[in-house]
Amino acid sequence: MLLCAVCNGIRVLDLVCPACSDAAEDYGRVSDWNGPYAPYEPIQIEEEYAAATQTEDVLVCRHSAYCSHCSYSFVVDVVME
Ligand SMILES: [Zn+2]
Ligand SMILES: [Zn+2]
Repeated sequence: MLLCAVCNGIRVLDLVCPACSDAAEDYGRVSDWNGPYAPYEPIQIEEEYAAATQTEDVLVCRHSAYCSHCSYSFVVDVVME
């Protein structure tokens, strides 16, 4: 079964801020990911899948990240394994 090692506490995201190259923090899975993508599917069960988007053949878990050094926020795709 595919799962996000970061969400499950197996692995810690080692993030580098793309703006200042300093260490950035993982702020968890992007929760409002289903907004513009599933406007006609207000089904609760779908939410788990909404957090994962399929890019080519790899399932990823979208995490938001934030750099406290330069206040830059960005999104990281964590490959599920
Ligand atoms: Zn995750
Ligand atoms: Zn930064």
